[in-house]
Amino acid sequence: MIHLNDDMLNGAREHAVNEYPYECCGIVIGQPDNPDHDLIFPCTNIQNQLHEKDPQTYTRDARTAYFIDPRELMEIMKQAAEKNLVIKLFYHSHPEHDAYFSEEDKRMALFDNEPTYPDSRYLVISVYNREIRDEAFFEWNSETLTFEKLHL
Ligand SMILES: [Zn+2]
Repeated sequence: MIHLNDDMLNGAREHAVNEYPYECCGIVIGQPDNPDHDLIFPCTNIQNQLHEKDPQTYTRDARTAYFIDPRELMEIMKQAAEKNLVIKLFYHSHPEHDAYFSEEDKRMALFDNEPTYPDSRYLVISVYNREIRDEAFFEWNSETLTFEKLHL
């Protein structure tokens, strides 16, 4: 069960369409079991800048990867702490790809083989030709030690 405000979902979808053909990325903070205080933060995907500066480390550009601006991430974490809210959701889009949780997505969500944000869900929005085709939520499963698709 995911307790997420519909406005957050619509905000993420709109962001995904606007950023096409690049991946969008963003964060929703709120109370775990209550959608009333949800806040959405569309973030800047700095993957293109990283790729331009250091293409050997950042082999993909923003069409197939995302990297949240670290300053924005820190500001969101600060606001969440001040408001006593948690990170409920990380979302990003897959332009011209389906709504799966890729190996790269897993790598980004793990630190030392443990989920960096174990209580957060991940939403992947598939966008083809500037239109949303599909979306899926994923969460960490501590028994199978992988991210599994949520069946809503
Ligand atoms: Zn992805």
